[in-house]
Amino acid sequence: MKSSARAVVIGGGVVGASVLYHLAKIGWRDVLLLEKSELTSGSTWHAAGGMHTFNGEANISRLQKYTIDLYREIEALSGQSCGLHPNGGLMLAATPGELDSLRLICSRSRYLGMETEMISIERALDFNPLIDPGYFIGALWRADGGHCDPSGTTQAYIKAARLLGASVERFTRVESLLQRHDGSWDVATPAGTVHAEHVINCAGLWAREVGRMVGIELPVLAMEHHYLLTEDIPELSGREREIVNTTDYAGEIYLRQERRGALIGTYEPNGVVWAPLSTPDDFSMQLLPEDFERLAPYFEVGFKHFPALGRVGIRKAVNGPFTFAPDGNPLVGPVRGLRNYWVACAVMAGFSQGGGIGLILSRWMAEGDPGQDVISMDVARFGAFATPRYTALKVPENYSRRFRLAYPNEELPAARPLRRSPVYDRLKAAGAVMGANFGLEHALWFAPAGMPPAETPTYRRSEAFPVVREECQAVRRAVGIYETTNYGKYEVVGRGARAWLDRVFACRIPRPGRLGLAPMLSAAGRIVGDLSMACLAEDRFVIFGSGFAEEFHLRWFSLAGAPADVHVRSASSTLAGFAIAGPRSRELLQRLTRIDLSATAFRLFQVAETAVGFAPAILVRAGFTGELGYEVWTTPDYLLTLYDELWEAGRPLGLTHFGARALSSLRLEKGYGSFNKDFRPDYTPGETGLDRLVDFDKPDFTGRAAALAERAAGAKRHFVVMEVADADAEVVGFESLMKDGAAVGYVTSGAYGHCIGKSLAAGYVPTGLAREGARFDIDILGTIRTATVRLEPLYDRQGQRLRS
Ligand SMILES: Cc1cc2nc3c(=O)[nH]c(=O)nc-3n(C[C@H](O)[C@H](O)[C@H](O)COP(=O)(O)OP(=O)(O)OC[C@H]3O[C@@H](n4cnc5c(N)ncnc54)[C@H](O)[C@@H]3O)c2cc1C
Repeated sequence: MKSSARAVVIGGGVVGASVLYHLAKIGWRDVLLLEKSELTSGSTWHAAGGMHTFNGEANISRLQKYTIDLYREIEALSGQSCGLHPNGGLMLAATPGELDSLRLICSRSRYLGMETEMISIERALDFNPLIDPGYFIGALWRADGGHCDPSGTTQAYIKAARLLGASVERFTRVESLLQRHDGSWDVATPAGTVHAEHVINCAGLWAREVGRMVGIELPVLAMEHHYLLTEDIPELSGREREIVNTTDYAGEIYLRQERRGALIGTYEPNGVVWAPLSTPDDFSMQLLPEDFERLAPYFEVGFKHFPALGRVGIRKAVNGPFTFAPDGNPLVGPVRGLRNYWVACAVMAGFSQGGGIGLILSRWMAEGDPGQDVISMDVARFGAFATPRYTALKVPENYSRRFRLAYPNEELPAARPLRRSPVYDRLKAAGAVMGANFGLEHALWFAPAGMPPAETPTYRRSEAFPVVREECQAVRRAVGIYETTNYGKYEVVGRGARAWLDRVFACRIPRPGRLGLAPMLSAAGRIVGDLSMACLAEDRFVIFGSGFAEEFHLRWFSLAGAPADVHVRSASSTLAGFAIAGPRSRELLQRLTRIDLSATAFRLFQVAETAVGFAPAILVRAGFTGELGYEVWTTPDYLLTLYDELWEAGRPLGLTHFGARALSSLRLEKGYGSFNKDFRPDYTPGETGLDRLVDFDKPDFTGRAAALAERAAGAKRHFVVMEVADADAEVVGFESLMKDGAAVGYVTSGAYGHCIGKSLAAGYVPTGLAREGARFDIDILGTIRTATVRLEPLYDRQGQRLRS
């Protein structure tokens, strides 16, 4: 065995094999994979091998397509067959809601370059004659996907990687990891120690154990999963083509052909966690005992929906464990605070996602950047809130919903409420319908007295629509209160704070008493943060951003390496607050503070440390609604008192609660983009319009060279807001923007603009088409609607209300 390597990949399942191949492919040939047993011996060997491109996140869909397309490449390179059956897939809808969901997939897939089509159940029978059409109302057919041979595919990666110079040691267990002062690792095995610059945890079922070697508890858990193989099915004999992989959402069943019979699997509602505390060390190439009694009712649904299956015997049953993160997406990337330690685990669809994970991880390791937005599979989307107990509740919830279509207005109940602000009970008493963001409860909208605080999951307008309209109008008419505790908050203090921030952020750093809008770029010049920064004193700053990105931004700050005279810490649990917005917000706050809030004395983006009522507070004149507005920040112990005082002072002025839904509507009326929806690491300053905030005169900041190059060349596409011909549904995100039948861009977010009476969509279109009045077609739930670009904000064009 080698005694040193540039990178050691721990685990020889399909994910480790792909990571090894991709590292070798980008030129890291001195890489070594260590496998404690035989290759594939974890969850890989008994997988059903199904592969598909569908994912609710466009970038993950793209990576899934990359994975499937890659198999031909590794077959050609290695000479090893992946056992491909690229016969496409069918997704069956039994309810109008499921049909809407398939229509959304269809609309999205055009820009992603995937061939999909909504078809009738009669046509679906051509692809799979086993369907009982009586149970379904429609279907989506997709050309991509099919199934592969799990073992052959893993071997093809390994052989291709070896041909490129990578090494593999089987039956070589990693026993411990010890970090040297320079950040490199001593990887101890029974066969000796390997000195490696980087290690990658691809340990699948043992990802927790390999995490514990470096003192972390990854939010990952294995579930038992059953599938059955039937005897030969007479209906399939004589058919020239295999039946296509079929997903039955209502039955929570998947199905594909296996020889002349079928493979049928289910994601049952009361799934069983396997090895909840730690994974047995000696579990290798093993299956678990079948539990037909528990699963019979679920398979029986399958036998009803596909009756021919019930008429033949079961040849074999497979029950095997595989791992999930709390939201079902993989955990990939570097772990904050651990140099040169990478993870690629919790991969529940290794044959759809393994290739894409290898691609982005290899880029990330070699170039310091994954090359695209991957936040929905980034390990940093979870923070301290993702405790083992949280994971133990969320993973089974996710498993049980694997084949339930997620509605855009749906909030999942497991492990809630988890993090609560001090005003949680007050907001609930006011009718708040809550969502959870980074484990923290926050109000989405407020059900008025007499209306149940709950919402029907739908792709169309729900009962919340008229309520949100009232909230929006109350803000624009008088004044509203929105709790901002769920924002990400960071304190940066110390003598070197300004100089350090100047390097990390692309903007001009504000002077004491001022707030600045603060884009942060990657070295490649992409948007990794759209934050705001308040300067309290020369050596004291508070930065505000998206709450869900707290770990992501903390990791970013940590990688930026603050010098000894700069201290960076999260203020997420130590600062809480409210946004007060609307024409009467000044009047309200003036009742509670002695500083002069008049328009000339406390201007837009002014910051003061003051008292608001009883509460010592940071008061900022800013907001996201486009109205005159303020943010009041205090410590959590004062929040309840502050709330009561604001409410008392505001009641005579018409103070109204508003939630995140109203905020989405108000900000789109003003054309403001939102981080993670509209602004992500996929886009650049020029494309987003955030270049107006970039201080190109600064001599040195991360991403400067790339931002300057883009400014010289011009952005290729632009963020725009569009009016959409009205219907009973708004866009959700990632729908294709069509021009003359071709997909030229896509939607990033949408909302109904309640104060202007228009349905709105935001998205990116090619620069030449980013013109006032340019028209696009959007397929919204199966109906083509016209979207018209509006370059000026649709509400308060001149910004007079904001500056009033
Ligand atoms: C019944 C069933 C059906 C499935 N069907 C599908 C499907 O149709 N399509 C699909 O895409 N996915 C499917 N899956 C999921 C798929 O199996 C996983 O996504 C995939 O196997 C994950 O691969 P991995 O490499 O991350 O993990 P694993 O396969 O678990 O590999 C991890 C490897 O790490 C090794 N290892 C662990 N610790 C150490 C150590 N300390 N030192 C050295 N080596 C170590 C282990 O021995 C193991 O080989 C199915 C799973 C099951 C159980």
